[in-house]
Amino acid sequence: MFSSGILVVIAGPSGAGKTTLAHHLVKTFPNTRFSVSTTTRKPRGGEKQGLDYDFVTTAEFSRRREQGFFLEWAEVHGNFYGTDGNWVRRQLARGSSVVLDIDVQGAMQVKRCVPSAVLVFMLPGSREELLDRLTGRSTDSAETVDRRMKAAAGEVSALGSFDYFIENRRLEDTVKMLEAVFASELRKLSNIGWPVAAGEYHPEHINGLSWWKGRRVVVSSGPTREMIDDVRFVSNRSSGLMGVSLSEAFLAGGAEVTLVSGPAMRTDPPGAVKLLRVNSAEEMLEALRRETLGADLLAMAAAVSDFRPETAVPGKIRRRGKVLSLNLVPTVDITASLGSPCPVLAFALEYGDRSEEEALEKMKRKGAFAIFLNRGDMPGIAMESPDNSGRLFFSSGSPPVSIARGSKKFAAMGIAAALGREMERRS
Ligand code: ADP
Ligand code: 5GP
Repeated sequence: MFSSGILVVIAGPSGAGKTTLAHHLVKTFPNTRFSVSTTTRKPRGGEKQGLDYDFVTTAEFSRRREQGFFLEWAEVHGNFYGTDGNWVRRQLARGSSVVLDIDVQGAMQVKRCVPSAVLVFMLPGSREELLDRLTGRSTDSAETVDRRMKAAAGEVSALGSFDYFIENRRLEDTVKMLEAVFASELRKLSNIGWPVAAGEYHPEHINGLSWWKGRRVVVSSGPTREMIDDVRFVSNRSSGLMGVSLSEAFLAGGAEVTLVSGPAMRTDPPGAVKLLRVNSAEEMLEALRRETLGADLLAMAAAVSDFRPETAVPGKIRRRGKVLSLNLVPTVDITASLGSPCPVLAFALEYGDRSEEEALEKMKRKGAFAIFLNRGDMPGIAMESPDNSGRLFFSSGSPPVSIARGSKKFAAMGIAAALGREMERRS
């Protein structure tokens, strides 16, 4: 079954040894690819189009940037450089790992849209060593070398955003350190997704999952924030874990997954998932409008705020001992406004004896294809908790499926599989 590859980013000053080490990883680990960047820089002696870089004009670079082609892009030493986002996600989705050799600004952008990316900061043994290497490469003018040395100081100030620091003194030692990092990251369960061996123990739990192969699934996740002023907001306790877990589950089934997430504690799906961050209910609606076109399912795991302040005040409201009254008005009803072009899985968090009736009414009202009912009044599950359990109801009247208590990762797998079985029955 599916296993997502890992995305490793090597950054650091020019001349640190990034390209040398990136190519070493690609040669050493099977199923590992080097991401060829797009640049507006002119080819240096011996560099080949498509192999070292995709060399393009500034106009072509701008066109691609506007079309959202890049996972990240930056201006480095007077030229533009960027990484092809779709290529990276495609490689990861088919289980290949990808190595990026990019600058520090780019690395930080990658961490934002692929939180599971592994960021390695590389420095040579000393400043003198860096100077020697840049001069020794003899591809750059003295002026360029000087500019790159000055830039190195600024780049080092971003060190705190990285996961690993590697000093590239003796190449043999660096190689060993980097190989160790790469090998450990490959074993992380969050990168493996759903291990084949585990699946063999629970075939009934995952039957139906493969229905999603090649299909497009959009998952919404987390709370939304409705601003009172530029500092405070109305929100809820949703952690975003259920949405992240659903993304992993559909990905494990072979789907192409987009996660539209509000500002949650958990916004770290596997790298193959396209992650879009939003704040308010309105922004979530806009993102879903774009993303659900041509999709096969929208899983609305987001806990969209039901209310928002009638007006958001710019700046910060001063305290000054006054009583502040908030006028709350309903937020946009996303499912209703969307008139989703694809089937919708709704979620119901219900309290009390009428939970099931409420959930079934909600499924009808929202025109949803299915609804997952989890109880708000059962300790240890649903909001802010690592676990979940509940019942999945179908609008067709097919018998509901009970999802036993377990980690959200496990529950999500059960939901995605049950939905796949229902889709199969209907088709
Ligand atoms: P970057 O991609 O960070 O600009 P490169 O990989 O091109 O850096 O390395 C710059 C130069 O330093 C190259 O000539 C490379 O062969 C050399 N180099 C890399 N690592 C070492 C090392 N540990 N010891 C000596 N030379 C090195
Ligand atoms: P060079 O011109 O020496 O090949 O690269 C100059 C700098 O640009 C290096 O630090 C390199 O890592 C960085 N770079 C190369 N490709 C990319 C890219 O796609 N994105 C970003 N942000 N930086 C890149």
